[in-house]
Amino acid sequence: DAPRLLGPAQIRELAAEVGVRPTKTLGQNFVHDANTVRRIVTASGVGSQDVVLEVGPGLGSLTLALLGTAGRVVAIEIDPILAQRIPQTVAEYAPAQSADFDVVLADALQVTRDDLPVVPTALVANLPYNVSVPVLLHLLGLFPEIATALVMVQAEVADRLAAPPGSRTYGVPSVKARYHGRVTRAGAVGRNVFWPEPKVESGLVRIERTDDYPIDPVFRQTVFAVIDAAFAQRRKTMRSALAGWAGSPAEAERRLRAADIDPGIRGEKLDVDDFVRLARTV
Ligand code: SAM
Repeated sequence: DAPRLLGPAQIRELAAEVGVRPTKTLGQNFVHDANTVRRIVTASGVGSQDVVLEVGPGLGSLTLALLGTAGRVVAIEIDPILAQRIPQTVAEYAPAQSADFDVVLADALQVTRDDLPVVPTALVANLPYNVSVPVLLHLLGLFPEIATALVMVQAEVADRLAAPPGSRTYGVPSVKARYHGRVTRAGAVGRNVFWPEPKVESGLVRIERTDDYPIDPVFRQTVFAVIDAAFAQRRKTMRSALAGWAGSPAEAERRLRAADIDPGIRGEKLDVDDFVRLARTV
């Protein structure tokens, strides 16, 4: 039996029952539109072979849709009231799938591999907007087994994540996400599918793991440190932007030349291949 999904009436009822007062600090905007959660699940491409990690199940809108398609769902929720309630919601709305569901009360930014009862193969989430990029990057780094991710983020962040080198919105999130995989926009979502309505439009982003770059977290940290330095002062040339990271302008210049990069170029023109080559000169 397929799970029942949550519409405006069910969200209102659940919110009243749980006594939830959505907070901005936790990015609590709950989806009350069944078509939107169906769309997210379809765009994610997850199937019965997948163990899906969901961040911030909230009242369960997306969780229930995922349980209809995925083999198993593990959710991380930071709000104790919501984490405590969600098993009951799953039991009521998706009784046939409730054995395939686990919730972990934790901060997704701090979570470690040992905190989850199972290793996820996919990430699907309507992310809390104030921490969407750090959460996404933390989880992609923590679980190389995550082969695909489909996340809803604010539209502007979706643009930045999927931006190609040289474009106006290209920056740290674009390069770091690309380190993990191929990043594409997967559609827009309006504000009226949420309760309460957020001030901004949303967008879907899909990441397909490519393993083009080393999984080793120590090497990745080196690459990410160069990326942070390169974009910290956007209008500087690499020669001066990387002086602090390299220890001196002369050493920055040496590393840039060793990586076959023009020291007079700006960070926004470089792609992840360039940053990986730079990290190898350390
Ligand atoms: N998935 C639900 C939906 O689509 O209706 C809720 C999405 S709401 C945008 C974000 C959810 O993430 C909230 O339930 C919030 O409590 C939770 N959250 C916020 N910060 C978190 C964090 N650092 N770790 C885990 N969950 C978090």
